[in-house]
Amino acid sequence: MLFSALANWSVWNYIAAVIDIAVLAFVIYKLLLLIRGTRAVQLIKGLVVLVIVAFISRNIGLYAMDWILSKVWTVLLIGLVIIFQPELRRALERIGRGGSIFGKNRNSLTNTDIAHVIDETVAAAVAGAKTKTGMLILIERNTGLQDYIDTGIAIDAKVTHELLCNIFVPNTPLHDGACIIRGDRIVAAACFLPLSDNPYISLSLGTRHRSAIGITEVSDALSIVVSEENGVISVANGGKLIRHLDEKQLRELLSRELTRDTDAVNRPKKAEHPGEEGGRGND
Ligand code: ATP
Ligand code: MG
Repeated sequence: MLFSALANWSVWNYIAAVIDIAVLAFVIYKLLLLIRGTRAVQLIKGLVVLVIVAFISRNIGLYAMDWILSKVWTVLLIGLVIIFQPELRRALERIGRGGSIFGKNRNSLTNTDIAHVIDETVAAAVAGAKTKTGMLILIERNTGLQDYIDTGIAIDAKVTHELLCNIFVPNTPLHDGACIIRGDRIVAAACFLPLSDNPYISLSLGTRHRSAIGITEVSDALSIVVSEENGVISVANGGKLIRHLDEKQLRELLSRELTRDTDAVNRPKKAEHPGEEGGRGND
């Protein structure tokens, strides 16, 4: 039956079937990448256990169990939408802002601004690390950060390391919260960011680092953090925190993430070692 049906297929049917399977496999792979390191992984494991129990109970004749599970599925499906709401929202936001679920986003900075923004941000972070001044600098890319800009104090000034350092001087009105860069301008300081609720983030990291990671879970922004406790420089991107960056690594990472045109800034080699935190749960 199956073979006679296959025999009637034209070449195009075979090509279409291969494309169909390839696209489905790619989508499933991307969905798995999306939920990797999130609460959804535990929930999916629980779901798999339920499916196995339902399969076994049906096949060995546990009618009561089978009846209960068959009633539970509808409720469970609605429950899943509620439980997975943050993950679903994140996935839809990613699709909506240009399909980063299917590939890497382009950034919105112009090439002329990039080298300047990188130089000044790196200089500020290195100065902050030396003096153990807490810093949280956000660089906007494709996702608009206006909601977060509105929570802070508006500034409209060209990015310079002097200004960045000044903003984060302890006990001054603008030092608390995040400073946001759009293009080559500092647009706001003292902004409040959403905290990440990723359970895999090290407990040794406080709210500055959690908010740096949190904003990158809901946007494609880059967060640069300097710890006031130990002067460690970190960058959060896509829900992951890369820690213990030195000046060279920070410059390389920012260049790699912000450079669209490889000729504008020399594209550096891949950063070698920095510890990664967050997404994969390697605490
Ligand atoms: P550090 O290593 O610098 O101590 P940390 O990760 O341990 O950083 P905290 O010590 O809790 O974090 O840092 C508190 C500071 O982080 C606050 O004073 C504030 O400037 C900043 N911060 C805390 N929560 C937020 C938030 N939601 N949005 C922006 N900034 C925040
Ligand atoms: Mg702290």
